[in-house]
Amino acid sequence: MKPGAEIGLDDLPLRDDLRGRSPYGAPQLDVRYRLNTNENPYPPPPELVADLTRAIDAVAATLHRYPDRDAVALRTDLAAYLSQQTGVALDPANLWAANGSNEILQQLLQAFGGPGRTALGFEPSYSMHPIISAGTRTEWVPAPRRADFSLDVAAAAATLAARKPNVVFVTSPNNPTGQSIALDDLRTLVRAAPGIVVVDEAYGEFSSRPSAVALIDEFPARVVVSRTMSKAFAFAGGRLGYLAAAPAVVDALLLVRLPYHLSTLTQAAARAALQHATQTLSSVHLLAAERERVAESLRGMGFEVVPSDANFILFGRFADAATAWQSYLDQGVLVRDVGIAGHLRVAIGTPDDNDAFLAASKEISP
Ligand code: PMP
Repeated sequence: MKPGAEIGLDDLPLRDDLRGRSPYGAPQLDVRYRLNTNENPYPPPPELVADLTRAIDAVAATLHRYPDRDAVALRTDLAAYLSQQTGVALDPANLWAANGSNEILQQLLQAFGGPGRTALGFEPSYSMHPIISAGTRTEWVPAPRRADFSLDVAAAAATLAARKPNVVFVTSPNNPTGQSIALDDLRTLVRAAPGIVVVDEAYGEFSSRPSAVALIDEFPARVVVSRTMSKAFAFAGGRLGYLAAAPAVVDALLLVRLPYHLSTLTQAAARAALQHATQTLSSVHLLAAERERVAESLRGMGFEVVPSDANFILFGRFADAATAWQSYLDQGVLVRDVGIAGHLRVAIGTPDDNDAFLAASKEISP
């Protein structure tokens, strides 16, 4: 008997605005082919593991002390990495880091959203944007995409001008649909938005488009670019997200972050992983090529495939996505039902993973 098990959520003095809500819930199932959370399928190479172990070993004896609260060394390494990756020269003062980009997004909403304020996103998009908004008591304003999931930029700009949200989320490439946005289109949106525009580039390294980091100097009070080491960087378990913005944005986040939020272990491990960036990111080309192979094969089987600039594909149409999801699972392949009628999302895995997914798809094809 678990102590306290006789009471449920309804018995707790929970905030009224959280009643009836569902938590984030990608199933974590022990299945052979796990293609449901857009991770990089390639584990860290032995040299990275060895460096990371050495780095942890070096800091283990200091764990009686709090970590560097401002993570200066890590932010310096992130600035070097992002400058090199985007071609935009960034200073460590432009960078901020947290436990996954989800925590970055939460800190942004704590600072720029909150009670009496609004956050707007173009749906379907990343499901955590409205959930983090709810948690920070920021009113969520959903705005539409076209039926093919692309963004109608003129309509989107008109919506921003009319609704005047305090925070706008633009996910590029967009999860779960895969399309990314051109810098000029982003400029149009930023000009129409009175508040902060958070460009969520969790899948940025997979995209062939330039990063929105290029717009920070042009719109320092408005453009914030959120990134993560969880996807292309193959470090999802390490929990390291970061942002690039004007130094004043980082100053704003210092007002809401918890002191010592980023552990000594996380900072050391992330720095070790960053040393191997070139090697880790060599998988990006492979994954992009596999994405095209998978998309082509799916189309050949009669599926509709949404064009993707990321490491996942949204595809359909199924008479019933939930039934199709179960059929994949029955064949040992875990994909994602993202709640878009008739569609499922699959992450690109190793060629082996993808072959297993395609074999299962043949059985299920529409
Ligand atoms: N943004 C987007 C668009 C995502 O898809 C994800 C992960 N699914 C995140 C942010 C958060 O990732 P993390 O917290 O692991 O950095």
